[in-house]
Amino acid sequence: MAERIPEETLAEIRARISIVEVISAYVPLRKAGRSHTGLCPFHSESTPSFSVNEEGGFFHCFGCGVGGNVFTFLTRIEGISFPEAVRRLAAKAGVSVPQAAKDPQAQERARLHRLNDLAATYFNAACGARLETSPAITLQSVASTRRSPNAFA
Ligand code: ZN
Repeated sequence: MAERIPEETLAEIRARISIVEVISAYVPLRKAGRSHTGLCPFHSESTPSFSVNEEGGFFHCFGCGVGGNVFTFLTRIEGISFPEAVRRLAAKAGVSVPQAAKDPQAQERARLHRLNDLAATYFNAACGARLETSPAITLQSVASTRRSPNAFA
């Protein structure tokens, strides 16, 4: 089952965690200008083409083309799921990850669903009430218009 993690939570973790620090635990990185480079852990190479951008919070390998953010790095290097990577980094960052049930969008959808049910019930009740009174009137008027031409024939 897909687990939804709010964007704000991901942003908060990324803001508190240094992607260079996380990746350094797996790959020796060397500062090169505005980024850090090292030997790519995802393909075999002898000259570093793996680059980590601390400011942007992403990594990219010019050799094999792999890239992403701190979460996707962890999913690839550890072979874990995205939510698991988020949980690990959240624990490291001291950020609490909301449970799926507390997802505000899911709550909003549930609220709208209840409103919709309520509206449907009300609509059915209102229609039912009108049908109880109107058929008599309708039948009477139809009957009178039908009878009139013959009445004077
Ligand atoms: Zn690579």
